[in-house]
Amino acid sequence: MTARLNPEVAALVEARLRYYRDLGSYDLYRRGLPPAALEDSEPAATAQSEVTKTLPPTPHVTTTATESEIPDLSPRASRSAVSAALSPAQALQLLREEIGDCTRCPLAFLGRHTIVFGDGDPHARLMFVGEGPGADEDAQGLPFVGRAGQLLNNMITAMGLQREQVYIANIVKCRPPQNRTPEPEEARTCVPFLFRQIEIIKPEVIVALGSTAATYLLEVKSSLAALRGRIHMAHNSKLIVTYHPAYLLRDPRQKKEAWIDLQIAMRELGLKPAKPAGD
Ligand code: SF4
Repeated sequence: MTARLNPEVAALVEARLRYYRDLGSYDLYRRGLPPAALEDSEPAATAQSEVTKTLPPTPHVTTTATESEIPDLSPRASRSAVSAALSPAQALQLLREEIGDCTRCPLAFLGRHTIVFGDGDPHARLMFVGEGPGADEDAQGLPFVGRAGQLLNNMITAMGLQREQVYIANIVKCRPPQNRTPEPEEARTCVPFLFRQIEIIKPEVIVALGSTAATYLLEVKSSLAALRGRIHMAHNSKLIVTYHPAYLLRDPRQKKEAWIDLQIAMRELGLKPAKPAGD
């Protein structure tokens, strides 16, 4: 039978693991815990002092996990196992709390007002990923709510879905100044959060909107033209690359090409295009 940590010690260890994740350390190993740290043994205070002896000094970390949310932190428990123990909505909420008032990359200090986490159905079969928030998104805290967002909504409707049925996120969660492309350091720092959103939601199909999304989701540097028109496999999902809606606003002639890309996604999901209004 697997030994479980008692809840108070588990909360302490969870906070410490979050701290190490914030530093970018994901693979941690430890010796066996003293019996006092396990359930049905010593009181928590004793267990806590035993565990603290084996760990470096605790930084200031706040944790809001309630007892029912404390995941199994037994030696075999992985992050995906922790996520699997929660509903997708709970796991997303926990991830949002972990991101906190993030200052992990330079975009935190370049004029962002809000962290734009993502929006939509935690059970979505289809996920759209863009580049980063713009001014409207930064103001409202939601992805794709400006003019490009309106076009994306129209694209989703044409696919026979409502916006609420899909999930929408970006490579970076903070607005780059003047809507510039995220620097590699910024994108590489933020994109693990997106990968964890994908891991939680498990969409069947991801549509990468534009070359920045395609580059970081596929981890390849290639032209959009070379990546469009076929199905890639990435993050355990089928991935289709198309134009960013902001680009389509600048060059509406490419909308026809984007529709061809979206039809690939629709075929994979068994979707029928929406009937034109009035039919
Ligand atoms: S872009 Fe991402 S990593 Fe950078 S500060 Fe915002 S949330 Fe943190």
